[in-house]
Amino acid sequence: MPTEEKSQADQLRESLFRRQKHACEAVSAEEIAQADEFCEGYKSFLNLCKTERECASWFIARAEAIGFVPHEEGKIYAPGSKIYVNNRGKAAIFAVLGKQSLERGLRLSAAHIDSPRLDLKPNPLYEDKNLALSKTHYYGGVKKYQWAAIPLALHGVVCKKDGTTVRVSIGEAPGEPRFCVTDLLPHLGKEQADRKLSEGVKGEELNIVVGSRPLMLDGKAEGFKLHIMKILNDTYGITEEDLISAELEAVPAFEACDIGLDRGLIGAYGHDDRVCAYPCMEAIFQCDAPEHTSVVVLADKEEIGSCGNTGLEANFLLDFISELSLTQGVNPRKVLRASKCLSADVNAGFDPTWSGVLDPLNAGYIGQGVVLTKYTGARGKSGCNDASAEYLAWLRRVLDDAKVLWQAGELGKVDEGGGGTVAADLARLGFDVVDLGVPILSMHAPFELAAKTDIAMLFWACAAFFEGE
Ligand code: MN
Ligand code: MN
Repeated sequence: MPTEEKSQADQLRESLFRRQKHACEAVSAEEIAQADEFCEGYKSFLNLCKTERECASWFIARAEAIGFVPHEEGKIYAPGSKIYVNNRGKAAIFAVLGKQSLERGLRLSAAHIDSPRLDLKPNPLYEDKNLALSKTHYYGGVKKYQWAAIPLALHGVVCKKDGTTVRVSIGEAPGEPRFCVTDLLPHLGKEQADRKLSEGVKGEELNIVVGSRPLMLDGKAEGFKLHIMKILNDTYGITEEDLISAELEAVPAFEACDIGLDRGLIGAYGHDDRVCAYPCMEAIFQCDAPEHTSVVVLADKEEIGSCGNTGLEANFLLDFISELSLTQGVNPRKVLRASKCLSADVNAGFDPTWSGVLDPLNAGYIGQGVVLTKYTGARGKSGCNDASAEYLAWLRRVLDDAKVLWQAGELGKVDEGGGGTVAADLARLGFDVVDLGVPILSMHAPFELAAKTDIAMLFWACAAFFEGE
């Protein structure tokens, strides 16, 4: 008997079961090449933009170059108009006006541009035993021991009393000095080795070495901290007190690079969440006159709870939508309720070395496309958005019609831990919203991994989301 006929069981399996494919089998070699090409742009962006301020100004500069103009309150915009809002240089909103009235709702994609790091304290500088050091306060959820013994760069601003701002970026260009938190040698690390991992390096031990030579005046050594302050004064015209009105962030000084012999992954600092911000922005940059008004919001402060006036707990997004709605004579609340939203953020990729914390049936896998995360939260979904089934069904159709590879996952096993995204903040405004993003390995480490095809899938997903009916 020829065995070409499929058994009834196999036919049933084929028609009833979901088969999750890897990108390499789901899409053509040409599309894989397009994904790789897309990620070359992403890597250059990663190397130029390591802080929320750098991301915001880079995207605004690119937007202006293709015709985006600052939003003017009260102005009536024609379909196809491209506008943006710069919120204090740390968050931004970009919109392309749609052909349809805002009454039909808008399409919003939200990503955050802040990443975990070490912030300098207001009084950072001191000297001790032939070293000049800087105190830090970590920002976001970090495993503190990972931040010792790696090269760090210093990015940020120092704002002076005279109203001027000095931009600082030290440790990125070839040949520039870098900085480092020291760790204890294993030979003398007996007491440290007995500490809990979470206290392997404690918060007050995240002190950065910034110098090691005293200032020499008339043949006399006059101090290590003084030497550093003198260099800062000579270079930037600042004094110690200026460091109080500063935002200086120590970030890993690594460049983004391909990982693995097949070059399928990118290793970099701060994929979370620039790996979603970049595809969202590329998608809105190619929007010309969509049916619905398309919006991307790049938020700050997500890593510390979306607080502050540049985080999504603040009203800047609501204000923008309200102002835009009023110019069209539409009730803003009606717009919010009719709008569809993606919370574009990363999820934990399945890591075979650390598989115990994930439910293998409900985890995002590297290379299997964007992860659709219905809910996050902790201890019984607490504090999350939990997107509606109706909205998920709609989004499945959009993604499938656009041939975007996607998978469904949650953030870890039940009661294993948990986390949140800006989805809950957006849901509060009335949007239909769901988390959609790239699966990541080593999330929140100084060096995170993501798959090139997953990154490109998010770009195609956002493009389909903006262009859809
Ligand atoms: Mn994130
Ligand atoms: Mn995060």
